[in-house]
Amino acid sequence: MNIVDRIQELKGEKDISILAHNYQPPAVQDIADFLGDSLDLCYRAQELEETTILFAGVRFMAESALILNPEKTVLLPDMDAYCPMASMLTPDILDEKKRKHPDAAVVLYGNTTARAKARADVICTSANAAHIVNSLDEDVVLFGPDKNLRYWTQKQTDKTLIPVPDHGYCYVHNSLIRPEDILYLRDRYPRAEVLVHPECVPQVQEVADHVLSTNGMLAHARRTSADEFIIGTEKELCYRLRKELPNKRFYEIETAVCRDMKRVTLQKICHAMEHEESKISLPHDVLESAREPLERMLSLGRG
Ligand code: SF4
Repeated sequence: MNIVDRIQELKGEKDISILAHNYQPPAVQDIADFLGDSLDLCYRAQELEETTILFAGVRFMAESALILNPEKTVLLPDMDAYCPMASMLTPDILDEKKRKHPDAAVVLYGNTTARAKARADVICTSANAAHIVNSLDEDVVLFGPDKNLRYWTQKQTDKTLIPVPDHGYCYVHNSLIRPEDILYLRDRYPRAEVLVHPECVPQVQEVADHVLSTNGMLAHARRTSADEFIIGTEKELCYRLRKELPNKRFYEIETAVCRDMKRVTLQKICHAMEHEESKISLPHDVLESAREPLERMLSLGRG
């Protein structure tokens, strides 16, 4: 039996649903039950009937799935798949900033550790950051860890957003997608619309036609009459875009690859399902404290 058939068999045998992020390798996207961005997958995780969730993504995503579904088993096929940006915001850095700004609300991007989430008032994603910030009573907000998402969100609010940490970033969007990469592709494909992710640097955001989350890019490409797009985010989103919209053309930035997202393979998924290894666990107090800010985000909706 080949590995794909074995994974499909194990889903039924062990009551497992596979959630995969849009940046996962094509072979993993193909065997997922649900594919999406972080926000979409949070909603999906809550709707599942299966007793086990296998999360094909990085650790903070699997942690969020467990925080929202503490009664389920959550598996991460590679326990070393971390988001380097999430590691930039330590509890100590956040606590110090909170001491300096005791009246500020704390809005953290989902790309944070569970311990950081446990100290937040509400979580946001790239799909709903401005909506979440604008829904708060406070006029001053500690916002982190991504400085570029903070820049994009600040443009859509009158509130004061204080970065925490001072310079958090995603190396893929911040450093591997440069303005010159976009301009080069725009020169080659002058009819293409430029869609970029808000984790990109301001200079990239400024040359784009639209700044969108990954699911936002898919939704936009579906509804617009344009049929060519330059995609400024992790390159694997283009696999999903091409599969779902085969009559449109998508041009990726070849170098925009997240190493940690690529740690997940079919072999590791199959192994984790067979042996139910790589179970995510969190201390009880962290699990409990991180739930309220996540649920608050989900109740505020997408905006
Ligand atoms: S693409 Fe960036 S934000 Fe997403 S997991 Fe990789 S390093 Fe983290």
